[in-house]
Amino acid sequence: MSFSSDVKKELCAIECENDCCQRAEAYGILYFGRSFSKDEISIMTDYDFVAQKYKKAIKYLSQCEPEEIVSKSGKITVSVNSKDERIDILNELGYSGNEHTMRLLITNIEDECCFGAFLRGVFLACGIITDPKKEYHLEFDIAFKSKSRDFVELFEDFEASPKMSDRNGINLIYFKDSYHIENILGVMGAHNSFLTLVNEKIFKDVRNKVNRKVNCDNANIKKTCAAAAAQINAIEKLMESGKFEELPPELKELAKLRLDNPEMALSELGANLSTPISRSGVNHRLKKIMDIAAKY
Ligand SMILES: [Zn+2]
Repeated sequence: MSFSSDVKKELCAIECENDCCQRAEAYGILYFGRSFSKDEISIMTDYDFVAQKYKKAIKYLSQCEPEEIVSKSGKITVSVNSKDERIDILNELGYSGNEHTMRLLITNIEDECCFGAFLRGVFLACGIITDPKKEYHLEFDIAFKSKSRDFVELFEDFEASPKMSDRNGINLIYFKDSYHIENILGVMGAHNSFLTLVNEKIFKDVRNKVNRKVNCDNANIKKTCAAAAAQINAIEKLMESGKFEELPPELKELAKLRLDNPEMALSELGANLSTPISRSGVNHRLKKIMDIAAKY
């Protein structure tokens, strides 16, 4: 089961409290289904629970008994076969069936309580949500440009502006930010999925903090390496210029030790000298070497 199907399953289990909301939900799933016209009213889905919800929507709006066909690949198509029944359903939702373009009718989503129910219907018909473990992405795939434009306008009151694009002639309306995706799940009533998303966000946040810490440790290692490289450069410079032999014996000993052990920490270098010294003692001597080398 994908996260998308989990969300849809959760949405299908919600019962509308008000008649107005039930109607809005039915409108959402029908209007954004595969086809919504006097010639065809149908949906095609992978999920039986979505098919049952679609049937319920049709029965809520009319007396008709929709037909269900399951293909060999398991895709379920639910459709209204009689033209008279299709026209009844269209009339019930404010259409004559003779419209050139079936614009979205806001009268079917009249009350404030209805928006979530409508959105639920739309998501069941054409919504996809990516597993938040992978990325934040929620989209609606809409076959008609005019429908997608009308739908986007609804989000203006919602203080969210979805992005629009198209894929193989299908209009995509999508959200990429976790804040709006959480809001949409919440408004639709998908509370469990909402919590899954929030938990995943917290988990990601903690993981990012841990990663930052690890990167920081790596940066420290790089810094140590860069310092050792500079010391080795200075020592080699002294050797090339013939000044190495002029160094005091304690500096010479340390320089040789460093050349042989580029990865050694300062405290280790100090411990490996014939007369062991502290980390800061090593630091002091290395600085001296570098100062001398800088003159040549
Ligand atoms: Zn309502």
